[in-house]
Amino acid sequence: MKTTQPPLTRRRFLRVVTTSAAVAATRRWPGLAAASEKPRAHKTILSFYCDDTSPYTAGAKAFQTFLDFCAEHHIAGESSVILGMGGHAMTRNSTDEERAFLQQVQRAWDCGIDSHMELMTHHGLFDFDANHETKDAVHEGLWIHEPDVTAEQYEHYFSNIIAEAGRAGIRLTGLTWPGCGCEKCKQRYAALRAAGPKEPNPEFWKALLSLAKQGKFRSRTVPCFFDASETKGDIHEKAADGPCAVFDLMPNANDRFGTWTNSPDKVNADYYLSADGKSGILARHIEAGAPYALWYSHWQGLNPAKGVGWRAFVMVIERIQTHLRDRVVWMRPSDITNRYHAAGGWSFLDAMG
Ligand SMILES: [Zn+2]
Ligand SMILES: [Zn+2]
Repeated sequence: MKTTQPPLTRRRFLRVVTTSAAVAATRRWPGLAAASEKPRAHKTILSFYCDDTSPYTAGAKAFQTFLDFCAEHHIAGESSVILGMGGHAMTRNSTDEERAFLQQVQRAWDCGIDSHMELMTHHGLFDFDANHETKDAVHEGLWIHEPDVTAEQYEHYFSNIIAEAGRAGIRLTGLTWPGCGCEKCKQRYAALRAAGPKEPNPEFWKALLSLAKQGKFRSRTVPCFFDASETKGDIHEKAADGPCAVFDLMPNANDRFGTWTNSPDKVNADYYLSADGKSGILARHIEAGAPYALWYSHWQGLNPAKGVGWRAFVMVIERIQTHLRDRVVWMRPSDITNRYHAAGGWSFLDAMG
């Protein structure tokens, strides 16, 4: 610790903190506050992703409770749809529970919630003719990274998933990468990483753009979720043509709502926002002038029936409403990418100040 500097008075401390936050914001988000040192008063977008949502974890009623809560509190985000997770397409020969769940997914959009495909099975590639997973098939998340797959193959597979969703009256909004820690995937990812950074096959983005241009997604822009980073979370345009575009919209906050293991030691409301509203990653992003604060979560931990993170989620939303109400605007991921693409950057936020 240096002792030669003059003592920091509270006022000087605040000046140092404010100035460095403004400079950092200008550097990180050049579209914002570029003209002056002072950060412009713009609202910060809030949103979230919820992975692995299905009727098998906590039943359809839990998803209904979640959607009701989102609608009542006027929040917005995303929740995955994995139509073949139960071993068959839940849009065909469905059980009562699956049907009840699909009815809820149909109303997700009206409750402020996007529906991303987390591919068809979150496991091996699906055989749509046989209505089951292909035996010993490559896992979907890895397949997105395999360099030899063509744009046509991706497009064909994704259009099958979109057609299944259509059978249930569901319009998909984007795509979430289904992560997998199985031995086969781990080894293959390691081999791919040895050859270069772990990136999806570029043909994958082309296929999504082609589907967006055909109007197969709900919006003309398609948000995707791959990796997250508290410090390097950012939006990346991956493919675009006129009004249509595909984005990697990275979360910049992690899962402290129990994760996929539904573990109590992974629940922490203060991580997002402290009870006094002064600290936590949401407060930090807002202070730094970030255009958005977006966290990811998992249905196993978040669901209101069995999830250990549900109470913390409710608490965080209440804290946001108490302390940040005037500084944030909720948007589902597809609204974020639609507006970002239409404006050619974050300038639209200035009009929301
Ligand atoms: Zn997942
Ligand atoms: Zn795997």
